[in-house]
Amino acid sequence: EKWVYTFGAGRAEGGAGDRDLLGGKGANLAEMCNLGLPVPPGLTIVTAACNHYYENGRTLPEGLRSQVRDGIRHMEAITGRLFGDTRKPLLLSVRSGARASMPGMMDTVLNLGLNDRTVEALGHDAGDARFAWDSYRRFIQMYGDVVMGLDHEVFEEILEDEKARLGHEQDTELSAVEWQQVVARYKQVIEEDLGEPFPQDPEVQLWGAIGAVFASWMNARAVTYRMLHNIPAVWGTAVNVQAMVFGNLGNASATGVAFTRNPSTGENKLYGEFLVNAQGEDVVAGIRTPQNITEEARIASGSDRPSLEKLMPEAFAEFRGICERLERHYRDMQDLEFTIERGKLWMLQTRSGKRTARAALKIAVDMAGEGLISEGEAVSRIDPASLDQLLHPTIDPRARREVIGSGLPASPGAATGEIVFTSEEAVRAEEEGRKVILVRVETSPEDIHGMHAAEGILTTRGGMTSHAAVVARGMGTPCVSGAGTLRVDLRNELLIAQGATLTKGDVITIDGSSGQVLKGEIPMLQPELSGDFGRIMEWADRTRRMKVRTNAETPADARAARSFGAEGIGLCRTEHMFFEGSRINVMREMIIAGDEAGRRAALSKLLPMQRSDFFELFEIMHGLPVTIRLLDPPLHEFLPKTDAEIAEVAAALSIEEQALRHRVDALHEFNPMLGHRGCRLAISYPEIAEMQARAIFEAAAEAARKTGAAVVPEIMVPLVGLKAELDYVKGRIDAVAKAVIAETGVPIDYLVGTMIELPRAALRAHVIAESAEFFSFGTNDLTQTTFGISRDDASAFLSTYIQKGIVEQDPFVQLDFDGVGELIRIAAERGRRTRKDLKLGICGEHGGDPASIRFCEEAGLDYVSCSPFRVPIARLAAAQAAF
Ligand code: ADP
Ligand code: MG
Ligand code: MG
Repeated sequence: EKWVYTFGAGRAEGGAGDRDLLGGKGANLAEMCNLGLPVPPGLTIVTAACNHYYENGRTLPEGLRSQVRDGIRHMEAITGRLFGDTRKPLLLSVRSGARASMPGMMDTVLNLGLNDRTVEALGHDAGDARFAWDSYRRFIQMYGDVVMGLDHEVFEEILEDEKARLGHEQDTELSAVEWQQVVARYKQVIEEDLGEPFPQDPEVQLWGAIGAVFASWMNARAVTYRMLHNIPAVWGTAVNVQAMVFGNLGNASATGVAFTRNPSTGENKLYGEFLVNAQGEDVVAGIRTPQNITEEARIASGSDRPSLEKLMPEAFAEFRGICERLERHYRDMQDLEFTIERGKLWMLQTRSGKRTARAALKIAVDMAGEGLISEGEAVSRIDPASLDQLLHPTIDPRARREVIGSGLPASPGAATGEIVFTSEEAVRAEEEGRKVILVRVETSPEDIHGMHAAEGILTTRGGMTSHAAVVARGMGTPCVSGAGTLRVDLRNELLIAQGATLTKGDVITIDGSSGQVLKGEIPMLQPELSGDFGRIMEWADRTRRMKVRTNAETPADARAARSFGAEGIGLCRTEHMFFEGSRINVMREMIIAGDEAGRRAALSKLLPMQRSDFFELFEIMHGLPVTIRLLDPPLHEFLPKTDAEIAEVAAALSIEEQALRHRVDALHEFNPMLGHRGCRLAISYPEIAEMQARAIFEAAAEAARKTGAAVVPEIMVPLVGLKAELDYVKGRIDAVAKAVIAETGVPIDYLVGTMIELPRAALRAHVIAESAEFFSFGTNDLTQTTFGISRDDASAFLSTYIQKGIVEQDPFVQLDFDGVGELIRIAAERGRRTRKDLKLGICGEHGGDPASIRFCEEAGLDYVSCSPFRVPIARLAAAQAAF
């Protein structure tokens, strides 16, 4: 069996198409090699070897060792060096690389092959002993941490201690002899702490590192990342073993990372950072603040440190050419890693670059304009969920701002919250419903949970490609990185700015679009669909089949939804209208009235209020369909609960406290979710449904007269299980319609339909469709009733279910395609058997979830309905589902 694929010197055994086998990094290294780009030679151990490792009690497959040995021989032949040699030693990097890129999740070991003898040879051969000892200390540090499991802080402490003792500020100031002392102390601490010496045999080092890459596939960070990104564990990781090239070989050497276009704005300009005389992770780790690659970016940033373009013009020109070539080749923006060794450029990685939603839109639109991709492809390139980032508020430019510091605009959007200094606190705050800004010197993969919990992230160190910046952009969380004028005092939990000291719990606002850090809460602006966003939406609208409506009951929501492109209201929950202002008391009057006459008296007060609500909605929707659901929740939800509340309400309604308490007790239900609600209310108290129907028809007549647009209300009867239930309520609605038409003289078209939210209704859809003119799948209740799980009580055990793998997803977030989905398919099919033009929609939370929207497309629904801010997401998801 072939476990190892080699690459180098313009030829590779694999290519970009072998991602599953070679992992993303390995496949792209091979591809770059085949393109003739300068890539240090290497080998890739296939992902299947990782799976073999886990399936066989963490043992390596047979044949792997000899194949790796052959691969190293291949590198030796190309480089003219020998692994473990004491004259011209070949050094290796050992890199993980899964199918999907998992930035920062797996650890890379550099400079492998160094020991007390080869370090001398390396220094001699390069004519630079400082370089050799710098490389050796890096190797021990990484190997000690990643492979031997010694905390990296142990090494950092020693280094800080030595630097302080020697009076050095920067790592680059240490001489060969000084690095040699650091190495001695590193080796000593390993032996003391672990009871075993640092391995001197390069062969042992190599297999230690390969084993560590496999083992890291299951470390907590990687497992968490996979869980958050839905990456299956069975994919495994590949291992790349590659000849080292050295960015730390003096001042004509450098290392850097770049994006072929700006990952934050999408601007079609090479964007990147580098460090002279540095290696590997120095740039991303934020140890030194990196320099700009292009002169233009340097000038824009106001930095006085030279750009790569100025410093190493030849290497830069070659690099720029390669960037252009790779972008054309992959037809996407690339994220690149490179190293320059004594003026010679080497490419170490390329992949499709992560980008903000704004950048993604701009890049997709630009590339379509450049003819690189089609409009359809442009639409398919945007992750619908990522649009959420753009639908977040930004700081109102007119607002008064008290700027306390600034850093890099690492991930756009503004966020306000209390300061917390640790990820644990961020997580705790989120659980308590508090909004926080996570403030750190820098972040590491251990902070993932906290970064997720926070509204925004602020670091005082690190560039645009630091861990905090990359991860925040991926999550769509606003982030300001490298705010160097601010200082974090972790011990005393202080954030110290010039002229202000803030403590934990103080509120700040960060603006990830400008890099500003502001004191207190700042007024924000609501987002708009314009420019590239608007263009992509236009293209999406051309592609999609399903309509997108919104769930809205207030004029503000309805207007927002219209501006986001909603094509009507899919769900107007009328009960929300009864909670407003003094209406709740009229509602209570109705509920406690002893007889129908009393109820009708109260309802007549509610009628004009409802009518004006509906009129406004009809007016805003200007002829677009509006689905109005009749009163749904159990009546006790409108009544007071505590003694104090009861006393207050009794006084307000001038009735006996005792009588009110009686009514409250009488309406008590053991299981209100399955109780006296929905159409059951309309059947017990038809006068409520009649009042609502009258309000709807009168408003429709008025709106039709005023706007001239045809208003076709769709009246939705909730919680129907039996056709007879629907028929009873529909009879009342029809009678009111007839009366209103006669009174107003305005002909009104309307539909009466039902929500499908009980399994019985789904199963009897063909019968119910005899009366219903539309179905709307109320998937929140349908999920509750299908699973027999109350949504309000589910959180107690659903998270355990997810943790233990009983369910993969929270079925209230992503539709359960197998069970609930089956009921939807059945209802759609049976309903349409009876009524060919039966309108079908979905109005649960799921209507805004891209995966669920795909399901709706396949099930043949006519529209999805979601909350206003998810309308653009749904438009795009519906287009992709149809594409
Ligand atoms: P990650 O997946 O975390 O980006 P990589 O495997 O890309 O990890 O390695 C991190 C960094 O290590 C690279 O960006 C590069 O700077 C350095 N590196 C990796 N391989 C080599 C090599 N063969 N020569 C020099 N530097 C390397
Ligand atoms: Mg790494
Ligand atoms: Mg990398």
